[in-house]
Amino acid sequence: MQKSVLLICFSLVLMLFSAKAQYINTDSLIVVEGLDLGCLISELDSMEIYSPELLPDNLAQESITSGYLLSMFSMPGSGHVISRFGPRSGRMHTGTDIKMNKGDTIYAAFDGIVTRRQYYHGYGNMVVLDHGNNIETYYAHLSGYLIKDGASVEMGEPIGLAGATGRATTSHLHFEIRENGKPYDTELVFDFENGKTRGKVATVENLAELHKELKPKGYSVNQPVSQKYVVRSGDSLYKISKRTKTTIKSLCMLNDLKETSILQIGQVLTVY
Ligand SMILES: [Zn+2]
Repeated sequence: MQKSVLLICFSLVLMLFSAKAQYINTDSLIVVEGLDLGCLISELDSMEIYSPELLPDNLAQESITSGYLLSMFSMPGSGHVISRFGPRSGRMHTGTDIKMNKGDTIYAAFDGIVTRRQYYHGYGNMVVLDHGNNIETYYAHLSGYLIKDGASVEMGEPIGLAGATGRATTSHLHFEIRENGKPYDTELVFDFENGKTRGKVATVENLAELHKELKPKGYSVNQPVSQKYVVRSGDSLYKISKRTKTTIKSLCMLNDLKETSILQIGQVLTVY
């Protein structure tokens, strides 16, 4: 009897220790081979859009996040969902929009470290928290910051104030959850209406698994929506990148082109 109690205590301590150990994390988006911060920022600058070059194939898929960590959370803000994750006007909306009033407090969803706290063209003032285990949350369109860059925050700690900075027509929180840089539907994790996490969260190892378990309606796979662009007379990769609001790098990657490649009129390009 005493032996089993001891064993349980020992495993609990071990669990706590390993959760703590996994928690320490460097910014996986920056250290990925072949990916630099410049690329990341220009992509974020471009829009709230799923950017395939943020997810190179060589990205290590060693997802070790336990649902245990995800199940300890705080709602980022109170308000109803006004726009869901998924394809929107031919683009991927990579987060969930929660209606809030200007100046409403935004809270850290989980314990984490502030890895970015700055203005990005589409997102406006944004805070990014790294929660370890390659999980990050994004809080965008803020009207003010309540934390410093590099600070550690606890779940439920105020981090910013709601607003409509960047590309936003009304004050709201654009909230994202990413694993290995890939955005997932935050509504897989959170039940915003009832202010709690989904029951399934605690039973999965990572967000990819959670997505498989709770495949949301409205989109069959968590994939970007591709669009086609037909090359016209006088087009260049630069002009097409401006017109389709993407980057030359993305166009080259998706279409197996070099920046110096000659385009043919009528050539069909894939664009995200
Ligand atoms: Zn949004």
